Amino acid sequence: MSGLKVTVVGGGIGGSAAALALLRAGCDVHVYEQVASKSEVGAGIQLSPNATRLLHRYGLADALGGVAVKPSHVEIKRWDDGRILGREELGRAVEEAYGAPYYHFHRADLLSILTAALPAERLHSGWRCVDVRQTNAGATTVFDDGTAIDSDVVVGADGIHSVVRKVLFGDERPRFSGNVAYRGLARAERLTHLNLEHCATNWMGPGGHFVHYFVSGGRFLNFVAVSEQDSWDRESWNDRGNVADAKRCYAGWHPQIHQILGAVDETFKWALFDRPPLSAWSVGRVTLLGDACHPMLPYMAQGAAQAIEDGATLAACLTGIAPAGVAEALANYETWRKPRTAAIQLAARGNATTFHLVDGVEQQKRDAEMAAWVGLSPRREAIFGFDAERLQPAAPLS
Ligand SMILES: Cc1cc2nc3c(=O)[nH]c(=O)nc-3n(C[C@H](O)[C@H](O)[C@H](O)COP(=O)(O)OP(=O)(O)OC[C@H]3O[C@@H](n4cnc5c(N)ncnc54)[C@H](O)[C@@H]3O)c2cc1C
Repeated sequence: MSGLKVTVVGGGIGGSAAALALLRAGCDVHVYEQVASKSEVGAGIQLSPNATRLLHRYGLADALGGVAVKPSHVEIKRWDDGRILGREELGRAVEEAYGAPYYHFHRADLLSILTAALPAERLHSGWRCVDVRQTNAGATTVFDDGTAIDSDVVVGADGIHSVVRKVLFGDERPRFSGNVAYRGLARAERLTHLNLEHCATNWMGPGGHFVHYFVSGGRFLNFVAVSEQDSWDRESWNDRGNVADAKRCYAGWHPQIHQILGAVDETFKWALFDRPPLSAWSVGRVTLLGDACHPMLPYMAQGAAQAIEDGATLAACLTGIAPAGVAEALANYETWRKPRTAAIQLAARGNATTFHLVDGVEQQKRDAEMAAWVGLSPRREAIFGFDAERLQPAAPLS
């Protein structure tokens, strides 16, 4: 047991999972979340075995299994006629190969399981961090009411607009990707006539894609409808969306997409941002994890999974470390994590092009590659097979 005092700024999926990993490593950890009553957006999230394996080790298997949907497979469909372009197994095939399930969740279900697993006295809601200072002996986290908390380590898990990141590396704004996402949840009973399977479906077409899957034990169908847009001039990075506008983005696409969009009363519209991989994540006793250091486009469904992996590696690096060894341990942490997260960030960016090809030679080449998929692809091995608690070099994504 190191007994290191750790302050985690941000109680989202990344910060909460990191706190569970740090507690297991014997750290005296406290999480400070700016929102008084933290809940997640009304949307779904996919979680792959590289993340669920870690959460199962934290004792959450029963709780997660109780609210998740286990999709049988992923299917890729053509935008206009619904032809199946590719299929990859999930379900039992993934569980047998990687020893942990692939899950679909409502985000609120996932976050409440993570936060409920933390001892109540370690999660502090309504605390907004405004500054972090450090000396050779320790770090101080400062909150908006002037309170200052001393610790041996500070972890900025405060998302894409991270204050901790800004303190460490200056104010560099994330890049608008030219993509926006409408997200929404439709009650399953409004869509029974479509006979949708419990799988992940991704419709690909010119300038956009449309993903849907069931969450909350099958009670809701979650959709993420991505289309291209030149700029984002709103100050907020998410907004209430309009169903009619979302439908307009898919003019000429398959009727099933319009039936799904027509089954919701409201949508939310998100500007999708990312950053190029950062060259450093830590300074002295202060480090980052999750979207604070590697925000990525959601086209690998790996942002939260990588945040959960970060927490596991961070805890492994801090295990048995004395306060004087913190800076070296954090340097190790980022050495293990950066190549893997950077590769996934870049792959996600690449998918923005691949998923949105207009019909033509490149699209035909992509479709032929997807048609050749059989069972589990080598890329899945590199992503799903990785164990972030074992300090090991990441395999290249093929
Ligand atoms: C459309 C879309 C679909 C996605 N789908 C998937 C998917 O299927 N699978 C997947 O793995 N990932 C997915 N992601 C990515 C995933 O949502 C993020 O990568 C993940 O939520 C990041 O978690 P985080 O804890 O790092 O950051 P966040 O979830 O942003 O949490 C940061 C927390 O810090 C708090 N905070 C911020 N500033 C302060 C402060 N100053 N003081 C105190 N607290 C603060 C915030 O209130 C928040 O609670 C998707 C993203 C999008 C946009």
